[in-house]
Amino acid sequence: MGTWTRALVTGASSGIGRAIALQLAADRTELVVVARDEERLGELADSVGVECEVLVADLADPEALARVEARLSDLAVPIDLLVNNAGFGSHGPFHELDLEREATMVDVNVAAVHRLALVAAPVMVAAGRGGILNVSSMAGFTATPGGATYSATKAFVTSLSESLHAELRPHGVHVCALCPGFTRTEFQARAAYDTSSIPDAAWQTADEVAIAGLRGVERNRPIVVPGSMNKVGAGVINALPARLRRRLVSRFAD
Ligand code: NAP
Repeated sequence: MGTWTRALVTGASSGIGRAIALQLAADRTELVVVARDEERLGELADSVGVECEVLVADLADPEALARVEARLSDLAVPIDLLVNNAGFGSHGPFHELDLEREATMVDVNVAAVHRLALVAAPVMVAAGRGGILNVSSMAGFTATPGGATYSATKAFVTSLSESLHAELRPHGVHVCALCPGFTRTEFQARAAYDTSSIPDAAWQTADEVAIAGLRGVERNRPIVVPGSMNKVGAGVINALPARLRRRLVSRFAD
């Protein structure tokens, strides 16, 4: 048995969320897996070898999100680890992007993460233990021309996580923001993001990222940047004076 008894993982049908679910199952953690793709979630549940509930939900839909919230507050079968992983990005000039898609990104990447943490926190505080792993991104460390909405959503997730890390620590609740860089999943294709110029060495696998995130929440690290190249990149970004960082970033907008 691992650290956690039962985890609810959003975005478990693909990529990092699926890898996190598989790692947790290997540690004998029971699962509640959430996403829109019922078939994929069903296949996952059939393969993990632990108790695994499938909860089909579009996190941008308030009625579906309410069902996930209800599951999180069901004390008959309590959740002690919430993995807020579901999310997506976009790429292109802000003034040309599809309004509905950008607004939905805020619903999924920000509002759902916020509401699920608000529901999970009191349950975990009352239990005197628990964990919240929020999958953020290195994109949240700086402005990103061409990815403005995405970058802003992840800045929210990282900031929220850091505050909650400090607030909930005395209550025995761990909170960690996992901030990956380029990770081979379906993310880039879904965001219509051409990554052909990104060198192979810059990429990580979903398994590597999942392991780093789970270790981070177990050890109660406020922020985890997986991979040595990403750690160096994040260190440089965070060390630069804001004025220099802005000048550098605006060059990418040209
Ligand atoms: P992915 O393979 O595209 O997986 C995204 C997951 O989110 C899928 O399971 C998808 O499931 C779910 N999802 C998307 N919209 C949803 C909605 N409206 N309701 C419910 N579930 C939804 O991408 P990934 O890379 O694993 O992404 C996971 C997280 O990592 C995201 O938060 C992303 O921002 C972050 N991240 C990724 C990278 C990267 O390079 N890959 C880097 C930094 C951070 P359904 O389609 O079945 O609903």
